[in-house]
Amino acid sequence: MLHSFTMNNFTTRFAPSPSGLLHRGHAFSALCAFEAAQKAGGRFTLRIEDIDTTRCKPAFEHAILEDLHWLGLSWEEPVRRQSEHLADYAKTLEQLRQMGVLYRCFLTRREVMADMVRAPHGAGEVYAGPDTPMSTDEEAERLAKGDAFAWRLSLRAAQEILGKKWHDLGFTEETATHNGKPAWIRAHPDQLGDVVLARKDIATSYHLAVTHDDAAQDITHIIRGQDLLQSTHVHVLLQALLNLPTPIYRHHRLITDDTGKRLATRDHATTLQSLRDEGMSAEDVRKTLLVK
Ligand code: GLU
Repeated sequence: MLHSFTMNNFTTRFAPSPSGLLHRGHAFSALCAFEAAQKAGGRFTLRIEDIDTTRCKPAFEHAILEDLHWLGLSWEEPVRRQSEHLADYAKTLEQLRQMGVLYRCFLTRREVMADMVRAPHGAGEVYAGPDTPMSTDEEAERLAKGDAFAWRLSLRAAQEILGKKWHDLGFTEETATHNGKPAWIRAHPDQLGDVVLARKDIATSYHLAVTHDDAAQDITHIIRGQDLLQSTHVHVLLQALLNLPTPIYRHHRLITDDTGKRLATRDHATTLQSLRDEGMSAEDVRKTLLVK
């Protein structure tokens, strides 16, 4: 188990995607991370996750910085922007490809949906990979035709490469305890199936970029919402394959609206900007989130 991090190097991050305005759920996440860093006398960093150039806009990034300043947060400069590190992600992808844990998947979205199966350890349905790998000839033919493909992580190949280590995959979760100590959670990457790590239009993915960056930024504690818990199981696998340290995790509760529904940007949930315009202070927002 990883308990080698000391309070002296406590480093955490808030990593929003500038694809919309921040809502109270983001504020809660940012405050949890910021206050944890303060309490530990550690570092709080900000990372802008803007790899999806069709959805991310500089105007949203600007608004995010403004909202976070308004909330009273400060962070280390320079802010890391994922769009400035695409070459690093390409290198990491190549490293995985050379290890033999990636394969080209030519299926359309509809074909993937038709092939979904219930995940052994997850709640939902996932794409678990082809029964037999595509032949080299067929692959060459599809490539010559210029057919679009995604790079997927083969869980089968990853398990083979890791051997016995596969069964030791796991992480420390500080929001859960076992015998008075933070719980050790065994990783079950099969919850998400063979995930996509890169596509033609976006040559990296959330999973790949986040795993790379958390290591590159020496993040010791990842503090984020429970909605990302399943992703953590994949990140732990990628860390093992890439020989990167596994940080300590805290997956905090999610902020919901009055009806108990989780806040989401696409539902036009209450944004910090509109709360501010209605006359709420940052202190008022903190109080509604039960963060002192
Ligand atoms: N960028 C992700 C989001 O906005 C968060 C990533 C993370 O904390 O790992 O949901």
